[in-house]
Amino acid sequence: TSPARVAAVTGANKGIGLAIVRNLALQYPKSPLHSGPFLIYLTARSAERGAEAVQALNDDAQLKQAKVLARDGGNTTITFRELDISRTESIQDFSAFLKQQHPNGLDIVINNAGIALQGFDAKVVQETLKTNYYGTLEATQDLLPLLKNGGRLVNVSSMAGQLNKYSEEIRNAFLQASKTDVAAVTTLMEKFHAAVAEGKEKEAGFPSAAYAVSKAGETAYTKVIAMEEAKRNRGVLINACCPGYVKTDMTKGGGAKTPDQGAQTPVMLALHDIGGRTGGFWQSEREIEW
Ligand code: NDP
Repeated sequence: TSPARVAAVTGANKGIGLAIVRNLALQYPKSPLHSGPFLIYLTARSAERGAEAVQALNDDAQLKQAKVLARDGGNTTITFRELDISRTESIQDFSAFLKQQHPNGLDIVINNAGIALQGFDAKVVQETLKTNYYGTLEATQDLLPLLKNGGRLVNVSSMAGQLNKYSEEIRNAFLQASKTDVAAVTTLMEKFHAAVAEGKEKEAGFPSAAYAVSKAGETAYTKVIAMEEAKRNRGVLINACCPGYVKTDMTKGGGAKTPDQGAQTPVMLALHDIGGRTGGFWQSEREIEW
């Protein structure tokens, strides 16, 4: 029998993604979504790292004490599924699997997977966009139709993608694109990549920062897709957020928040009452200016 509620989280073998899965399990019983068995797909690009993460959660002392997992008498099950968001085939395999397993659809999709590479050149830009921009976009577009009416989609973007580091022209282009269509946002990413290849991104109005631009793009298309989804009147809420500055491998021991603290805003946007808001950019559990 199919579980009552189903969630999927990308890049969940460590860091904020792992903490999101953990906090979904902890908060589900007290959320308005609560209704019978809950199945969470902890996805990762590595089967080994993913399986280890599921094992770690099954042995987690706090989860055990809260008795939220089915194995401890609760109603949540965490299971691993392979998903590499930089590969189209992997995204398609995952969405086909979900469609077949859950014909009634999913309740929650959280796109958390992301990378921050060292250095700055056209190749770094290409690799960064491939995962953070195009990968998250493809996962969003493939998984969104699988959401039930009233479902939630959350993209873990970043404050690094705020628009304060661009020329006025590019900032306005981002704002305009976020109200137009995904192609308009992608055009900005292509413009950035081409400018970097010529060593002229500053003249073109962009910062010399692959990660920041990829996250600005992610926030922009999340707004576009939320706007388009709203027209379907399915009650699906789509939001982008920043987890805050979090201590993970990505920040190499920097970071002011623990992964559990970083997970709070994405988990709130997935599980709790957010007053029907969609297309927002959130941080510290509040909607903020992009
Ligand atoms: P980590 O580097 O700790 O974790 C990133 C996760 O993403 C890992 O599980 C990694 O898997 C996975 N991942 C990377 N590429 C892919 C891919 N192609 N397919 C599937 N999974 C992939 O980073 P954080 O936990 O810190 O970051 C999580 C998210 O939060 C990211 O989107 C990041 O940009 C964002 N963020 C983080 C901030 C921070 O302060 N930490 C601040 C703002 C935003 P693997 O283990 O296989 O590499």
